[in-house]
Amino acid sequence: MSRSALGERLGYSRANITAVLNQLLSLNIIEERELGESQGGRRPRTYGLNGTLGFVVGVDIGATSIDLALADFDGTILERLDEPADVRDEPELLLGRAADLIEELLNRQNGRPEQVLAIGIGVPGPVQFDEGVLIAPPLMPAWESFPIKAFMRQRFTAANVAVDNDVNVMALGEASAGAGKGINNFIFLKIGTGIGSGIICRGNIYRGRDGAAGDVGHICIDYNGPVCHCGNVGCLEIMAAGPAIAERGREAAVSGESEFLAEALAANNGLMTAQLVGDAAKAGDRAANEIVKTSGRMIGGMLASLVNFFNPQLILIGGGVSNIGIRLLSAIRQAVLRRSTALSTRHLRIEFSPLGKDAGVMGAIWLALEHTFTVES
Ligand SMILES: [Zn+2]
Repeated sequence: MSRSALGERLGYSRANITAVLNQLLSLNIIEERELGESQGGRRPRTYGLNGTLGFVVGVDIGATSIDLALADFDGTILERLDEPADVRDEPELLLGRAADLIEELLNRQNGRPEQVLAIGIGVPGPVQFDEGVLIAPPLMPAWESFPIKAFMRQRFTAANVAVDNDVNVMALGEASAGAGKGINNFIFLKIGTGIGSGIICRGNIYRGRDGAAGDVGHICIDYNGPVCHCGNVGCLEIMAAGPAIAERGREAAVSGESEFLAEALAANNGLMTAQLVGDAAKAGDRAANEIVKTSGRMIGGMLASLVNFFNPQLILIGGGVSNIGIRLLSAIRQAVLRRSTALSTRHLRIEFSPLGKDAGVMGAIWLALEHTFTVES
């Protein structure tokens, strides 16, 4: 940014911003960059963070994989790798492996561990954000209250570490580098084995008091519905997420309702998946199409309540189940439009997440960038 743009943004006088910039320049924290666009007169000098100061790291831990990236202070990815991982493993094991992989990425850039200034980590479970610990995580019980920040700081002594729920991190990825860029109020909805959302409110992640905001998968959509793994009945997640789609697909195959699905089931060694149901719907199978639409209607019905409550400008749909295609999206859109108020949908767009699988790791980098210069107690 130019000096005048920075001054405006911070509300500093010209003399003030010049003094601060000179100090940061002498400390080598910022550097001069190229000339910016002219605002009528001479083209102004711009400033940015010193690229040689160090690195930030994004770590996206999924249920079955780990995805890491090393980036500079502009959020540009320098190195990246991913590998299979089992989140049910002990945290020492998985995080130890993550630390080894970060060092491997550093080696490729001739970097050292103490040059990592921030690490952002996304995990598939509920996170108490200030402490950076998981609380009652259904997928990864061994991680309960494990001190992730302290563990990572043993290896990366100069790093601030921020830990957040994977869906919040994906929302942050879209807000910083995807379709949510410049949009102040939007919702990222992840549909996979479970359903969760990340809320961007006034340009920032909204986490609520304890970090639990956005856990929409356990909103009740049917008081007579099946029992969810959380103990309540009729949760959206148990009725509409990947496993529910797969189970309805299996029933359609076994009952003889869909020959297409019966063949798919046999070809996949008796294992039905949401993806197979989606493929069958794409191929024109009526039963599969109905199953996908049923899930879309349920998800859309829940989203309509969120839209009435929050009036977002955009809803982005991501996660593994979003791969099953446009029919799901159409059913969601229809249900939202039918059930939300007219004013709340006037400027609403509902789209698939453009970053897709990259939203997690991009978001983890931006989470790290947001915490690079915070002073932690
Ligand atoms: Zn539930």
